[in-house]
Amino acid sequence: MEELDLLCLNLPYERPYILKNFSRSSRSPCVTRGGTIYEPLYLAMAVAFAQREGYRARIIDAVADDISFEQVKRIVRKTEPRLIVIDTSTPSIYNDTSMAEELKSEFPKSEVILVGRHVTYAPKETLTRFCKRVKIVARNYFYQQVLDLLEGKELNKIKGISYREDGKVKHNPPADMPKGEFPFVSKVYKEQLDLRKYFYASTKYPYLLMNWQWGCQYSCSFCNEYRKGGYFARPIENVIEELKYIERELPWVKSVLWDDPTFVMDEGKVQELCNRIIDAGIKLSFGCATRANISLETLKIMK
Ligand code: SF4
Repeated sequence: MEELDLLCLNLPYERPYILKNFSRSSRSPCVTRGGTIYEPLYLAMAVAFAQREGYRARIIDAVADDISFEQVKRIVRKTEPRLIVIDTSTPSIYNDTSMAEELKSEFPKSEVILVGRHVTYAPKETLTRFCKRVKIVARNYFYQQVLDLLEGKELNKIKGISYREDGKVKHNPPADMPKGEFPFVSKVYKEQLDLRKYFYASTKYPYLLMNWQWGCQYSCSFCNEYRKGGYFARPIENVIEELKYIERELPWVKSVLWDDPTFVMDEGKVQELCNRIIDAGIKLSFGCATRANISLETLKIMK
């Protein structure tokens, strides 16, 4: 196994008890009766961005691949990553932070950072109550923070992180939204994950999770989606090219689930995307989550 610049980890749930099939990247992270397992989309995106910059990057999904924490540690020992990125969620925060601390203790040369919704909304608590060794949280969407850390930027110059220094937690300003074309997360899925291990009952199996839009323009008070970092939509051409890539390289995939916080924010853009999908002859089926205030005209095109 080659040495790595970046290792992204979807850790197993083992503490205080073993919980199989914990879907950490779901909007409501849990073990479901329906057998839902989401792809670790944001970790895979970080790998895609890092690879585009020429870094050696890998993702391990210990949940889908049923890998124990001891096995994860063996992989870390062999690959000696410069940077380890660990996803977190509220129901697994004790598990996630205790394993992160253990990794930092056993592999002190690797920088270990935490990402995910829980640490985004509670960075200070995470870095004081749960972590004594791990000192960095990357808030919100975290691709740029990962690239900045790989580049070796000083912590006080990296937007979108909180970090502990001299016993105090400092919060840098929010990171900028990404711009321009995105690397294909589906390429990372193809090369590093087994998509047959993921399941969502509302989509045709096998399905694939990806994003078109980041952030949300609404402000529902109960929502834990990333809203404060702004809004960004990938260029439609970039999305169409990725859908063509999926049909060509992963022909057995039957559907795409858009993980956008709410899919229909701009009806004109949604109509344009749907019409482009139809014109390109793409046969995949699609699922999304969205607010219900959509015109009949847009719904007909989405269908
Ligand atoms: S529209 Fe959806 S994603 Fe956006 S803030 Fe409301 S609940 Fe969250």
